[in-house]
Amino acid sequence: MLLWFRNDLRTHDNPALQYVLERLVGSDSGRAIFFISEKQWRQHDWSEIKIDFIIKHAKKLATELASLGITLELVKVDYFSDQLAYLDEYCERLHIKEVVANSELEYNEQQRDKELAKKGIKLTLFEADVIVPKGEVLNQSGSMFRVFTPFKRAWLKYVNQFGFKYISKENLPEFSALETNKKHALNQGLSKAWLFADDFERDQLPLFLRSKLPDYSNNRDFPGMAGTSEISPYLAAGLISPRYVLMQLINHYPDLLMATDSNNFAWLNEIIWREFYRHLMFHYPKLCKHQCFNSKYQQLHWHNDQQKFAAWQQAKTGYPLVDAAMRQLSQTGWMHNRLRMVVASFLTKHILIDWRWGEKYFMSQLIDGDLAANNGGWQWAASTGCDAQPYFRIFNPIRQSERFDATGDFIRTYLPELAEVPDKHIHFPHQYIANNNLNIYWPAIVEHKQARLQAIAFYK
Ligand SMILES: Cc1cc2nc3c(=O)[nH]c(=O)nc-3n(C[C@H](O)[C@H](O)[C@H](O)COP(=O)(O)OP(=O)(O)OC[C@H]3O[C@@H](n4cnc5c(N)ncnc54)[C@H](O)[C@@H]3O)c2cc1C
Repeated sequence: MLLWFRNDLRTHDNPALQYVLERLVGSDSGRAIFFISEKQWRQHDWSEIKIDFIIKHAKKLATELASLGITLELVKVDYFSDQLAYLDEYCERLHIKEVVANSELEYNEQQRDKELAKKGIKLTLFEADVIVPKGEVLNQSGSMFRVFTPFKRAWLKYVNQFGFKYISKENLPEFSALETNKKHALNQGLSKAWLFADDFERDQLPLFLRSKLPDYSNNRDFPGMAGTSEISPYLAAGLISPRYVLMQLINHYPDLLMATDSNNFAWLNEIIWREFYRHLMFHYPKLCKHQCFNSKYQQLHWHNDQQKFAAWQQAKTGYPLVDAAMRQLSQTGWMHNRLRMVVASFLTKHILIDWRWGEKYFMSQLIDGDLAANNGGWQWAASTGCDAQPYFRIFNPIRQSERFDATGDFIRTYLPELAEVPDKHIHFPHQYIANNNLNIYWPAIVEHKQARLQAIAFYK
């Protein structure tokens, strides 16, 4: 039996790992494999920071698994097809009849798994990426919900009725540790600013739940406040289990599942958005192929002006909040949710660029790049998605800046060239700059009111 790690580099709440450990009883040690397929990952637009983050965690997992009696081999191959060829040869050579893994949601990954089965290798799959199993939250006619709020209600009803499975490390069978003398220098590399998942789990998550969550609903929209959990890289890469997160949440706030109007519920609401987009992709695989959820928008004639796209990517739109957000992305590999909405709206509505260009660019930069959440977010902003914002709702980037970065502190962190601009001009400093004959910022690439009218006409 071979345990195949994919988007689940963790020992807690890992049903595939538990299955293998339970069947190891009596035998010496277990075998596990993880493919480092950088060419395939880049073809899927994974960012360099995400690749670094994953490889680091894979190396760490190898040490952890050794203490459970399992040898994890990290094998470098280019593409999914090479993974299949490798597994085929490996299983034949070692007389392995069964490969065990946690399922992956995405289309290419699923096609790869089907190909493995065609080679005659039994693939036993579990589900470890969601709290409620995909396909279990359905409306009265047995279909997936097309609106978030009723999905959420049904999701909560399911959890209240059936609970959710969680496998803690303590429940894993014990084996003698393997000798390992491999030492990896792990606190280096592009993702070094991010904690390892187990440190995050031990220190940051409880801290967030204890001290930040009660104010989350008030603070979550202000990019300068660090009011959100920043757990997304860990959830996106399967390093922390969403069921673990819910369990911790309930441990801290036992009545939470019933108290949907409470302040504390706001964070779980976002976790349920994550579930919504994953369930949606499960029911609508066309989303993996970047098709519009709402097919009437499939043929929109986006303007796709290359120069404006480059200005957006390079943080040179002339709208300080948009530019500061894009610098946050390129400098840290992460962007605050409010800003993701603002810059996505700007790209699709102010400069009429295909949301898929933005989706792809985000993926190539984000440490938490996740096909379902990213696709959901982009289609929400572009109004082409499921339960998206209506096309005539167009964020005013200046107003957003005044509301959510009133003193301009966030802007000045990422646009130090505007450090001396007074608060009242920081949100759109062009007049101030002209009056003072300064040469510190680039002109705005579009005028808001005109862009808004153009977008409405375009969507109509
Ligand atoms: C255009 C756009 C693109 C996005 N791309 C991604 C992406 O590639 N990967 C990703 O994980 N999230 C994405 N999001 C959702 C959201 O912005 C991030 O999950 C959030 O900013 C991560 O920060 P956090 O962990 O501090 O979030 P918190 O506010 O602490 O939320 C906790 C968790 O809930 C989930 N969550 C929160 N908001 C959303 C949401 N709107 N949709 C789905 N799940 C959500 C995430 O897993 C998040 O980590 C995108 C949103 C937009 C508008």
